[in-house]
Amino acid sequence: MGCIFCEIVAGRVPAEIVFEDEATLAFMDIAPIHRGHTLVIPKKHATDVFEISPDDAAAVMQTAQKVAHAVKAGLHCDGVNLFQSNGSAAGQTVFHFHVHVLPRWKGDRTITLLRSYSPEEGDLLRTADQIRQAMGPDAHKFT
Ligand code: 5GP
Ligand code: ZN
Repeated sequence: MGCIFCEIVAGRVPAEIVFEDEATLAFMDIAPIHRGHTLVIPKKHATDVFEISPDDAAAVMQTAQKVAHAVKAGLHCDGVNLFQSNGSAAGQTVFHFHVHVLPRWKGDRTITLLRSYSPEEGDLLRTADQIRQAMGPDAHKFT
């Protein structure tokens, strides 16, 4: 099955585009959480954070920052969330890397992080050790 965001990049599926440069595209989410919900994607297909190149990831973040400034100035929101999902367990539904830019207004209550874990004594250290070990001396091996 084809990728809907690649179809938007190719101009075969319409989208309300707000910004475009060589590497990225920003357009309105078709089913917004609330007014101003915008998506930023790399033009080159990458499924998720594990697949995208560091250069494209940086380019997407630069565009997300531009869009954040624009929604704040244009829509007079009080805050902005940048939100990004990888894998269906994390809620990803379109498997082309994207960052959600979500304008927030005081009291809108549309996004809340539910805290479901209270670390016991030593948990943070043990977990950090697992991550440090996976990172290894050469963290660049992941990209
Ligand atoms: P995810 O759930 O993968 O983090 O986010 C995917 C987002 O893409 C959803 O918010 C969904 O509304 C949006 N979306 C899905 N299909 C289309 C489409 O064809 N056009 C646009 N503009 N947005 C889409
Ligand atoms: Zn794609």
